[in-house]
Amino acid sequence: MLKLTKQLKADLRKLKKDDLVVCSDCGSENVTEKMWVDSNSFISIDGESYYKYMGEIDDNQYWCEDCYDMAHLVHISEYKGDKK
Ligand SMILES: [Zn+2]
Repeated sequence: MLKLTKQLKADLRKLKKDDLVVCSDCGSENVTEKMWVDSNSFISIDGESYYKYMGEIDDNQYWCEDCYDMAHLVHISEYKGDKK
């Protein structure tokens, strides 16, 4: 069951790799944002926590773990387009 979950997550990640938002400075996909979640929807899979998404917080504050700073996010196609 655990193996199946890991495979599923890897497949999902592969599917999504052309549809990511990344840091506009360094291109990292290791970015976070604030959002509202259902406090009672917590589940844990493979040591990672998942909550049901309830809505966005429109403060345009994002964080890049690689720059270790506040960041602006762009779609990955936009980032690659800028670098050409
Ligand atoms: Zn960055």
